[in-house]
Amino acid sequence: MQEFENSPAPDHNQYVRKVVLPSGKTIEVISFEDVGPVETDIHVCPECTSQLVYPLTWEEADRSRWEVSLRCPNCEWNVTDIFEEEAIQRFDETLDRGTEALVADLRQLTRANMEEAIERFVTALAAGHVLPEDF
Ligand SMILES: [Zn+2]
Repeated sequence: MQEFENSPAPDHNQYVRKVVLPSGKTIEVISFEDVGPVETDIHVCPECTSQLVYPLTWEEADRSRWEVSLRCPNCEWNVTDIFEEEAIQRFDETLDRGTEALVADLRQLTRANMEEAIERFVTALAAGHVLPEDF
């Protein structure tokens, strides 16, 4: 069995992993593969880590980059910045998922409201409060 000890290097761009070999000898392995460039997701607020950051405006900056104004509804953080196409696509997918969740919630809410309205109507009907002249 090898023992692994991960510790981030001071510059945070690489990890130095100490590997203790079965012989007892310790070697240091510098690893770049785990880290790579830090991929910040656009929908996460850098101030309060809320995941509700949304775009106020966006327009094409050049062929593969977008200038986007963002706002965090939680802490009012906002920024206008240039983002790469790839980050924008991920953001777009996140927003789509958010919209889908919202629409699903809305459907459930609408159904619940309708059921409540029908229940009220049935109750009123049973109590004789709905008369022919109501129609
Ligand atoms: Zn925030």
